Amino acid sequence: MPRRPVTVIGAGVVGLSCALVLAERGHAVRVVARESGELTASAAAASLWAVPFVERSERVREWAYATLARLRRDAGPHTGVREQEARTVGVGRAAPDPWMRGFTPPLRQARADELPPGYREGTVASIPLVDTSRYLPWLRERCAEAGVPIELREVPSLAGCAPDADILVLAAGLGSGPLAGDAALRPVRGQVALLENPGLTRTTIVRDGPLAPLFVVPRHDDVVVGGPAQDGAWDPRPDRATERALVRRAARAEPALADARVIGRAVGHRPVRPEVRLAAERLGGRDVVHCYGHGGAGVALSWGSARAAADLVEKL
Ligand SMILES: Cc1cc2nc3c(=O)[nH]c(=O)nc-3n(C[C@H](O)[C@H](O)[C@H](O)COP(=O)(O)OP(=O)(O)OC[C@H]3O[C@@H](n4cnc5c(N)ncnc54)[C@H](O)[C@@H]3O)c2cc1C
Repeated sequence: MPRRPVTVIGAGVVGLSCALVLAERGHAVRVVARESGELTASAAAASLWAVPFVERSERVREWAYATLARLRRDAGPHTGVREQEARTVGVGRAAPDPWMRGFTPPLRQARADELPPGYREGTVASIPLVDTSRYLPWLRERCAEAGVPIELREVPSLAGCAPDADILVLAAGLGSGPLAGDAALRPVRGQVALLENPGLTRTTIVRDGPLAPLFVVPRHDDVVVGGPAQDGAWDPRPDRATERALVRRAARAEPALADARVIGRAVGHRPVRPEVRLAAERLGGRDVVHCYGHGGAGVALSWGSARAAADLVEKL
């Protein structure tokens, strides 16, 4: 039987990865999205191979490791993916967390000379950093090369959003909630400041204290400083007082940032759900594969969950 065409709704990191995996497997795919650029949550992410604000399960672990392998394969200046040393530091001692301990790539205890003043403990690991200012355009280029058109338009409802024969993949991040009638999805707001990079090459995550988890991530052209996780907050505007606090805290962890200029700012809303929704459903007379609710880990889970979504498409 000929394969049915697929329409992916959403052009953040999750939707674009789903579209590419399906195209690589020989499906006719197109993407429909309100927008694909700076206003997506994906553009606001720093983005580390890390899995906060998402379900803790074996399947998440599998998706993360599948994504890790693919990110490492695609690393390079053209993709914005590069391996970077990341230290996680704390003022207090970390509570034991067996799930995370079994999760992380090999890490070692930080030496005393690797801890910022006032921090008692830390670990160091090498993980991929995904500079989304390069990675998202690269994914869009891969789509163009694979013959996947990206149509920029609002989808008000699933009914009539694509030809009747198409399978729909719903990968619209927080926008999936209203489209699927899913009240379990909620925003966890994050704010970032982009600073001039005085030459930093190492990521720092501060796991405790105000604004935790605070992250300081040097990318190719800037340093992303971000942190506060505000559950249920929708405000899209950056708050100046929060920004000043972020920059102050970042300079405590990385003193070289003390005089760095703020050159940009963004707010993003993590699409958080008790569980990532990865399931096929008959909805409004359509075959729909849901792929949303990746919380604070959409980049880190992108390739693994895209493969799982493509498997579901192929079972329909
Ligand atoms: C401050 C911050 C830091 C983060 N750090 C990390 C990190 O270090 N590592 C990590 O893995 N993740 C991180 N995340 C989380 C990550 O950004 C998200 O999990 C991920 O971006 C979700 O991707 P998505 O494609 O599902 O959603 P989005 O990127 O929001 O994309 C949704 C897409 O759907 C479209 N859409 C929505 N509704 C409609 C509609 N009705 N009609 C048409 N189109 C629609 C949008 O236009 C967009 O194209 C961070 C997030 C924030 C905010």
